[in-house]
Amino acid sequence: MIIQVPDYIRSLVPYVPGKPIEETQREFKIKKVIKMASNENSLGPSPLARRAITKVMKDLHRYPDAGGFILKKALSEHLGVMPSSLILGNGSNEIIDQLIRTFCIPGDAIVTHQASFIAYKICAQIHGVETLEARLDPDLNFDRAELVDMVKRNSRARLVFLANPNNPTGNYLPIAELKKLIAEISAIRGGAVLFVLDAAYWEYVTAEDLPDMTSLLKSFPNLVVLRTFSKVYGLAGLRVGYGIASPEIIANLEKVRQPFNLNSLAMVGATAALADHSFIKKTLRANQTGMKFWEKKLGQMSIPFWKSQGNFLLIDTERGLGKSGLEVYQACLRKGVIFRPVANYGLTQALRITVGTPEENLKAVKVLK
Ligand SMILES: *Cc1c(COP(=O)(O)O)cnc(C)c1O
Repeated sequence: MIIQVPDYIRSLVPYVPGKPIEETQREFKIKKVIKMASNENSLGPSPLARRAITKVMKDLHRYPDAGGFILKKALSEHLGVMPSSLILGNGSNEIIDQLIRTFCIPGDAIVTHQASFIAYKICAQIHGVETLEARLDPDLNFDRAELVDMVKRNSRARLVFLANPNNPTGNYLPIAELKKLIAEISAIRGGAVLFVLDAAYWEYVTAEDLPDMTSLLKSFPNLVVLRTFSKVYGLAGLRVGYGIASPEIIANLEKVRQPFNLNSLAMVGATAALADHSFIKKTLRANQTGMKFWEKKLGQMSIPFWKSQGNFLLIDTERGLGKSGLEVYQACLRKGVIFRPVANYGLTQALRITVGTPEENLKAVKVLK
């Protein structure tokens, strides 16, 4: 028997997640391992989410609400948008996949920039869709004119993906430039190209020139904003993300969605986390303190880094330590600290570090030294 696999699946390089703690403990025979590799919330999950989940365990024999009523209602009130403008995903990763499945056919293209979140490219390739990437400058800012030009020149470009702030670079596009970019994309082929704005790290932003981006939905009918419960709410393991867009875009995405894509614990947990204001405040405060600590220590160690608006930062291991990101990653692993190599993003000279608790940050700095 010869199994037929399309070329684009045969050549697919699957997503490589951050190395799990247990695996590192087993491999290196060390007990104390800290993980600063997946931009998770170092404070743990939202306490309100934990409590709410425990209460609904008794109903696990029932199928979840396929319409996601309670979470959509809570989000609708939280954001001031109609429930018909919301789509729920098993993590925002699932919505990235749904967007490509809904709006692209094989041979179409998505447009993004180099070293943008790698899930866009992987999801595109799974569906036989090409990814076009605008170039980065040495500060890791992308060439906006080139991106617009790519969309203009490629009549099969259907979607633009932009993470703002971006992972893994931590860079961001201020609101004025962002508006201009979306307006330029919206003017191409009568607004047929959708602009997907991934705001996974938006809550962490401290820069004053990047206010809430959901307000842009009013001006741009071709805009889709993605948000997640995996970062600031501390619920990466529950898998909850959502998209906000016009009811027309959402209705098409809903056709493609699996009916029970969110489990019942996830919906209840996310709904509770949304109201956990003190936990969010605590998380943001801890991140700001941790980020300042890292910036100071990296400065003292003369390790260059790119300024970040997220809960992580990218260091230049080549200029700072004379080693590739992978080499530094491996050396630190042996000492029980998991960072994230980013060679798969084309950034062989860099390493990504998630801001941890004060103790974790202290240990990680020591190990890096
Ligand atoms: C972490 C992250 C997400 C969130 O993914 P989930 O599937 O919701 O866990 C989305 N986009 C970017 C850029 C991220 O870094």
